[in-house]
Amino acid sequence: MGAAAQRALPGGVRKVGSSSLPTPTKIMKNTKKPDWDKYFMMIAEVVRSRADCLRRQVGAVIVKDKRILATGYNGTPNVIKNCTEGGCERCLLRHQGKLESGEKEESCICLHAEQNAIIQAAYLGVATKDSEMYITSNPCSSCAKMIINAGIKRVICRLNHHDKEGIKLLEKAKVKVEIEK
Ligand SMILES: [Zn+2]
Ligand SMILES: [Zn+2]
Repeated sequence: MGAAAQRALPGGVRKVGSSSLPTPTKIMKNTKKPDWDKYFMMIAEVVRSRADCLRRQVGAVIVKDKRILATGYNGTPNVIKNCTEGGCERCLLRHQGKLESGEKEESCICLHAEQNAIIQAAYLGVATKDSEMYITSNPCSSCAKMIINAGIKRVICRLNHHDKEGIKLLEKAKVKVEIEK
């Protein structure tokens, strides 16, 4: 920086010439900032890591105006023994291969990630109307029903579960569904 670019100010403060400062674009050049969808999906992935189920691990995040309202992962209800500790008999039997896929599904006591996220919002008294949900999996029809009536308007999910009925139901109810690429 040349002396000409600086100007002596009272108190020994030197004003730096604007040409010597990197522009904001130059500062940001090498940073890999994720876009909002990527960012919230990354958070959903971290939420998923807390899931406690013998079957699948799923994470969900409810967002409104780029702010997180609630999070949820799948597992047994509070106070009940964790699924991985044998808390859900249905999951255990399925895990042991004693039940077929879809068999006695109604007896499963594990809450889905999407359900837990909506329940957390209710628990905290947070409105889910006009919000968005990020899910690390595609929602089942049961969760889709709740998403619709919770007023969630957009769902961003991954397509890794065989049951596509939930997505069909969401689309029918005019909820915008986007599959993460
Ligand atoms: Zn389970
Ligand atoms: Zn579900």
